[in-house]
Amino acid sequence: MHLARFPRIFLAHLPTPLERMDRLSAELGGPEIWIKRDDCTGLSTGGNKTRKLEFLMAEAQAEGADMVITQGATQSNHARQTAAFAARLGLGCHILLEDRTGSNDANYNTNGNVLLDHLHGATTEKRPGGADMNAEMEGVADRFRKEGRKPYVIPGGGSNPIGALGYVNAAFELIGQANDRGLALDHIVTATGSAGTQAGLATGLKAISAQVPLLGVGVRAPKDKQEENVFNLAKATAEKLGAPGVVERGDVVANCDYVGEGYGIPTDSGMEAIAMFAELEGILLDPVYSAKGAAGLIDLIRKGQFKKGERIVFLHTGGAAALFGYDGAFDFSARRLG
Ligand SMILES: *Cc1c(COP(=O)(O)O)cnc(C)c1O
Repeated sequence: MHLARFPRIFLAHLPTPLERMDRLSAELGGPEIWIKRDDCTGLSTGGNKTRKLEFLMAEAQAEGADMVITQGATQSNHARQTAAFAARLGLGCHILLEDRTGSNDANYNTNGNVLLDHLHGATTEKRPGGADMNAEMEGVADRFRKEGRKPYVIPGGGSNPIGALGYVNAAFELIGQANDRGLALDHIVTATGSAGTQAGLATGLKAISAQVPLLGVGVRAPKDKQEENVFNLAKATAEKLGAPGVVERGDVVANCDYVGEGYGIPTDSGMEAIAMFAELEGILLDPVYSAKGAAGLIDLIRKGQFKKGERIVFLHTGGAAALFGYDGAFDFSARRLG
């Protein structure tokens, strides 16, 4: 697989650090836990979408686009990174925000990622939860075309075979770091949503025969649906890279037991994960994605599925900007001082 054959705009701060989490590992008393810091990709507070956008935005430029259109939930990290990337390239950016949670909270609707979307100069429009967002984007794209613009439409989460190339590269990068430091890895765990991250990683890991199992912890869909989405995207990504069939169905595993009430609704186990990472490691998670992923990691360690003597990498996909849209989910009143 030769990623340099695909147009790419190099903008992310790469490689992201691979760090050992000593205090969290000691607290849980199980495996050695490492963290791959894709929360530190460098663009407008970072996150996993930046790797995908390096390839997507290069295609937008190659096609002569003068603006991009994308969509996401109100507190979408993908929308914020797209807005920042577009600003950097001097492209317009229009975002459709889907009200998936129905929250009336003022900070949820205007702070966090929404504030940053607007700071980067993007324009936004809302859509009700459950809207057909791809159809909505096509409608908006037609509107802009009629005005003489040249929009490039980026799917939600940047999850198509082009965006997933960013995570094929991330798999190469992570295994390269582990090899350079003599770290044999037993598992990789990450949050999975629109599927591009897990699909790209699965493709990259298989392409280099890394033989490290990858677990996606779901944040929205049930297990069967999530695995099918990831597998279909991994298949298409492998084909794009000239390695059809490299990813098999059994390579795609998702655990969707930590979604809770639904997408974007905080869970107790996720809030516990946020507190543990913040207080033990000084690392910020977000309630929508990385906290639910970490909640899965923590629970599976407690249940003995991940064991002492193993070495696990948690891929931190970012999202901390959303904390400022979710301040109402925190209660510090019961807290002791010092
Ligand atoms: C988008 C996102 C994810 C999920 O990645 P997908 O490629 O959509 O599966 C995980 N964490 C954060 C913080 C995200 O913004």
